[in-house]
Amino acid sequence: MENIFKLSQGAVEKLAEQYGSPLLVLSVDQIKRNYQFLAEHLPGVQLYYAVKANPDEHIVRTLADLGSCFDVASDGEMQALTDMGIEPQRMVYANPVKTAGGLATARRTGVNKFTFDSESEIQKMAKAVPGGAVLLRVRVDNPKALVDLNKKFGAHPEDVPQLLRLAREAGLDVAGLCFHVGSQSVSAEAYLDALKICRRLFDEAAKDGFSLRVLDIGGGFPIPALNEAIDIAGMLGEINGAVRQYFPETEIWAEPGRFICGTAVNLITQVIGTQRRNNQQWYFLDDGLYGTFSAIIFDHWEFAFETFKTGQKKVPATFAGPSCDSLDILFRDKLVEPLELDDLILVPACGSYTSASATVFNGFAKTRIIVWEEVRHLFAASEQLAAAV
Ligand SMILES: *Cc1c(COP(=O)(O)O)cnc(C)c1O
Repeated sequence: MENIFKLSQGAVEKLAEQYGSPLLVLSVDQIKRNYQFLAEHLPGVQLYYAVKANPDEHIVRTLADLGSCFDVASDGEMQALTDMGIEPQRMVYANPVKTAGGLATARRTGVNKFTFDSESEIQKMAKAVPGGAVLLRVRVDNPKALVDLNKKFGAHPEDVPQLLRLAREAGLDVAGLCFHVGSQSVSAEAYLDALKICRRLFDEAAKDGFSLRVLDIGGGFPIPALNEAIDIAGMLGEINGAVRQYFPETEIWAEPGRFICGTAVNLITQVIGTQRRNNQQWYFLDDGLYGTFSAIIFDHWEFAFETFKTGQKKVPATFAGPSCDSLDILFRDKLVEPLELDDLILVPACGSYTSASATVFNGFAKTRIIVWEEVRHLFAASEQLAAAV
């Protein structure tokens, strides 16, 4: 994909001067481009943005205006979207194991679409949201995903017929099946396997008297990662072809998270300390593992960054965050041109599972987020964006 949002050096310097560091800069135009790219390559598929990837209000509102629906996983996410005026019909409560508070909020706000993968969940839903529309989450193994969620969630295909019957007997509206191949899945293979399994399960269910009407193919669509070229258009083309082949009559949903928000945010962070320790160069930054870089832990993400230095011999360096915890180390043996105190660093593609899982550990506030399109008038056209990456 071209045109990934990336600030120029001039813009980074000016923004840091004006708003301070660290700073997150969100492009709502990039959110729109990402949404439209998926909508174009998965025609006819209703997109449910997975709010957990980045719940920022600007992102949610931008997507709501484009006609997106939303995958929510907790009472907090349901309430936040309800407060923004998003109708309950546009949400699916896609957490296979729901809390009592979550179910009560679904009932109160009118959210009436759910996923589940066990018998115990059927009893909970039948009681709290009787007659609710439910999708059974099927386990699909995908060891190639960066984050394979199928060890935690999903019913074994063998157990699907029985679980569907139990849900029907409990008075729930059995609408269909769903799967999630795991995050940052870099080939179509796992989706194609899952689609085949689901086709077979749809046919078996039909023999049981069900007319399943919805298939939710989950999220996991990848964003460009370090040193890795992904043919995302080709991948979506393959998925779309298989969907049309196996499910021509079925309503299809998808739950993209990282693909929508990942490339839409840049982090500006600053060197706040330099040291030589045990013969290694160390740089301390003003954002860390407990903040925006939480994705390193929770999402196993390897960030690419830009130091705006050229022409000097690179040295291996360790990068650490600002907290007093020894875990707060971001990169080791990273080859970079030497840095100095106050130097600014740009981390593009910093929008998914970053600020969403940031903490205020040790008293460091969450990094401020500003919207690029609200401040871009401060810049001459020439200093706005660097070339596409
Ligand atoms: C996290 C999650 C997603 C989004 O995954 P991405 O890799 O960010 O696209 C979608 N569906 C479910 C059920 C999830 O848990």
